[in-house]
Amino acid sequence: MSKEEVRVRFAPSPTGYLHIGGARTAIYNWLYARKTGGKLILRIEDTDAERSTEESIQGILDGLRWLGIDWDEGPYFQSHYVEEHRAAAERLLAAGRAYKCFCTREELEEKRERARELKLDYHYDGTCRRLSPAEVAAKEAAGLPYTIRLKVPREEGGVAFDDLVYGRIEKKYADIEDFVIVRSNGQPLYVLSNAVDDARDRITHVIRGQDGIANTPKQILIYRALGLPVPQFAHMSLTLDPKRAKISKRSHGELVAVHFYREHGFLPWALVNFLVLLGWSNPESREFFSREELIAAFDLKGINRANSVFNVQKNDPKFITDPKAISMNAHYLRTMPLVELEPYVRAELERAGLWREEFAGERREWFLRTVDLIRSRYHLLTDFATQGRPYFADDFPMEEKALNKNLRKHPQLAEWLPQLADRFAALEEFTAAATEEVVRAMLAELEIKAGILINGIRTAVTGQLKGPGLFDILEILGRERVVARLRRVGDYF
Ligand code: GLU
Repeated sequence: MSKEEVRVRFAPSPTGYLHIGGARTAIYNWLYARKTGGKLILRIEDTDAERSTEESIQGILDGLRWLGIDWDEGPYFQSHYVEEHRAAAERLLAAGRAYKCFCTREELEEKRERARELKLDYHYDGTCRRLSPAEVAAKEAAGLPYTIRLKVPREEGGVAFDDLVYGRIEKKYADIEDFVIVRSNGQPLYVLSNAVDDARDRITHVIRGQDGIANTPKQILIYRALGLPVPQFAHMSLTLDPKRAKISKRSHGELVAVHFYREHGFLPWALVNFLVLLGWSNPESREFFSREELIAAFDLKGINRANSVFNVQKNDPKFITDPKAISMNAHYLRTMPLVELEPYVRAELERAGLWREEFAGERREWFLRTVDLIRSRYHLLTDFATQGRPYFADDFPMEEKALNKNLRKHPQLAEWLPQLADRFAALEEFTAAATEEVVRAMLAELEIKAGILINGIRTAVTGQLKGPGLFDILEILGRERVVARLRRVGDYF
């Protein structure tokens, strides 16, 4: 017998941007689908018409595409299936598994208040469960509004399920009230819609955030009452900030939005790799994975029960986000094949107005060599447009600290560097080796420490304190730029 095909889903509510917690859920579902040869279904849970927006839907789709998470079916929209959710409730009524409840809001509030006074947990007391068919008919004939409640078994025992992350979870029937599945205005409740949709989409594994655990026993009761197969559940631990507060859009704003990472120079795969490790451990404690390696290594069993900590950086200008995420990004940026990095750098330079078509044409080879040279010190794609500016443009800022330390401390550089420019201008070939020879010769004549001249040149031609090997920089910048920049060095003293 062939094994049942795995079908998982990512089911975001489009009430804001895609945040890193949602992205992590999507990634785990995606990995599980790819690992098992199953299907990932994308379902937009947009039944909350007031809070759902088109902009949010687009943001979620864009975010997933950017991360490289491809889905096999959908997007389906929950709002298209409201009739089906109601019909399910009608079936439950007809089968005697649910009942109409005519209790008014005021009556329920009074009962809740009484329970509060007696310090008892409030549960709906089942008043309407005991109505006779004639009483129900009379109330309906009188036009009284009603909700629909599920009949929770009133017997010993409870609902249990084996969560693939948290293990066995049990809830006694006695602790579950006859909960509402359709509101008095005819709107199905989320627990019902979500379960009916999972059944229709033939979901085999519900992989979702820990907050879903509270709904699971109720949803299992719905599946059972409808005679539907119950999927397996895997709930994921929370992501906390360093103060142990739950990461949320409300308290962390943009800093936890996927688009924030996109705009701040992250490579999508670096973010995926980082988010996967935030809450999942592999036996070998490996850190870096290619897409294929990650799919092969991923296993729901490795999802941690303990909450993970995401080091949101709020007020530290040195880090825009978790330093681990930044170093993950730096790793990929420095090691990935150049041709794969190329389009990202291009996009970054375009954004900064530094892109020139020749970088993709006759100077492409130069462009790739430059990217390769400078990336060894970079962390984010944005660095190519900021720190990389002296390589792609003639106007670039001079760092004050570099001017002071590397130029102004040695006023004679104002003479030496233009002299050096003349020697460079006379060179037959302007290569790293040839420039090095010239510099070494000058050092010998002047009898000064190598650092004085070398650091001075570096700052004069790049405006920076540090950078890659000087002679490689010179060759990459080319004679014309180097000579011009050395000649105007007097301006900085
Ligand atoms: N729409 C729910 C959310 O965004 C998903 C719940 C689920 O995955 O079952 O939180």
